[in-house]
Amino acid sequence: MEHAVAVSPWVPLAYLVAGVCFILALRGLSSPVTSQRGNRFGMIGMAIAVVTTLVTHVPIDSNVTIFAPTPPLFGGVIDAVTVAEILGAIGIGAAIGLVTARRIAMTAMPQLVAAFHSLVGLAAVLVAAAAFLNPVAFGIAQVIRPIYGPDLVNILPVSRIEMALGIAIGAITFSGSVIAFLKLNGNMSGKPILLPGRHVINLGLLAGILGLIAYFVTDQSPWVFWTITVLSFVIGFLLIVPIGGADMPVVVSMLNSYSGWAAAAMGFTLHNTAMIVTGALVGSSGAILSYIMCRAMNRSFISVIAGGFGGDSGGGAAAAATDRPWKRGSAEDAAFLMQQAEQVIIVPGYGMAVAQAQHTLREMGDKLKAHGVRVKYAIHPVAGRMPGHMNVLLAEANVPYDEVFELEDINSEFAQTDVAFVIGANDVTNPAAKTDKSSPIYGMPVLDVEKAKTVLFIKRSMGGVGYAGVDNELFYRDNTMMLLADAKKMVEEIVKSLD
Ligand code: NDP
Repeated sequence: MEHAVAVSPWVPLAYLVAGVCFILALRGLSSPVTSQRGNRFGMIGMAIAVVTTLVTHVPIDSNVTIFAPTPPLFGGVIDAVTVAEILGAIGIGAAIGLVTARRIAMTAMPQLVAAFHSLVGLAAVLVAAAAFLNPVAFGIAQVIRPIYGPDLVNILPVSRIEMALGIAIGAITFSGSVIAFLKLNGNMSGKPILLPGRHVINLGLLAGILGLIAYFVTDQSPWVFWTITVLSFVIGFLLIVPIGGADMPVVVSMLNSYSGWAAAAMGFTLHNTAMIVTGALVGSSGAILSYIMCRAMNRSFISVIAGGFGGDSGGGAAAAATDRPWKRGSAEDAAFLMQQAEQVIIVPGYGMAVAQAQHTLREMGDKLKAHGVRVKYAIHPVAGRMPGHMNVLLAEANVPYDEVFELEDINSEFAQTDVAFVIGANDVTNPAAKTDKSSPIYGMPVLDVEKAKTVLFIKRSMGGVGYAGVDNELFYRDNTMMLLADAKKMVEEIVKSLD
């Protein structure tokens, strides 16, 4: 049995440096001020990890193979992999990544993230499957050579647990992320799809998967392994399908966490400590983010993991009812009201991202400040379509960080504010979340914009709804003035009027 497993004493040191870079990256990414530095640390860490893995696992100057071509356990042949093939694969992946990153619109980022998570899950599935099909090549089996008959290949018990967990987490991440992608991309309704008895089915499947993983330690038969795989694909699908309305942000961060654990599981199978450490960092930071998002949404973590929380409350209620009286304003009205104000709080949401109005919005803020108005920005944790969406856009437009406030830091200020300027935000301002038990967003803390003297509300039409698909009581309040137009166009008009 011949393996090309890294032996150089420099490897752990290089991986340690990479790990430290990843921790610094996470630290940096926790604030918009340091996020670019954090990103750079991440890139350096990843470069160190990839180069170390390549140079220590692959004999660069010969045709020697990475994996000894031992006879595979259950049929099929795993071909030898050469440096050229690895570099070719990296080149293809990098080219696809580069083109996608350049082409993707900022509004499509969340579905891109979901798609990337699905690829991590799929990679974990493929690695675990390859290890199962040829465990000798992965150095995770004991070969017994009887005097008579073929060799007996026993996968080490600990490796069986690792690969079974790897394939299960990977498959759940893959199918869950595909569903999240379809929902975020609009190919599937964002409304919860509720199967009868889904909690019982999910619990049954989970118990089945855990039971089979335990059984796999004693019996490495292919049927056990592949049944774990199929059941995990199914449960990933079933867990995400019932989640709808306003709960998707938690799903996105949860799948982020799953993809980390899937990568850590791959690290065990591939004996790569850098991957285990990186996976664990992604897994735990994703779990912490999910917890924070759950708190922000007033959801219980366990209920979201179990799938379908909030769905029972009739997700995707009626679209906006346009027959109720509401007030329409113009850009001039808005400019006049804001010019007179002492303080204006701007509330950005998904519509600002769609219209790409952040630069014009900053210009408007600058003009108001020049008129002596105090300007602040209020960010709801789930505004937009991914965690931190609004922070990224405002930072891109060079909005000063000290003007940007989180929900809990600014909510009490609306009552003393002259104008709340809502630009493309809807669900995160909906007072129904506080009062209407039948609403799918009930219980989610929202920005108290209705407490401001005047609410200026930009959206394109009275018929359009937010992600949760519900009408917003705010449109019909006495102190609300609707500014119906594309957000960028409306703000451009307001800027002109302010001149
Ligand atoms: P919403 O989706 O609730 O509302 C968006 C609003 O923007 C709508 O009123 C829409 O109305 C308006 N709009 C869209 N395009 C334009 C445009 N070009 N110009 C002007 N207005 C526009 O956004 P919020 O940010 O308030 O809430 C986010 C929602 O997304 C929450 O329900 C959250 O749970 C969910 N979500 C969040 C994720 C996250 O991680 N942040 C991930 C997944 C889901 P109209 O069409 O009439 O213009």
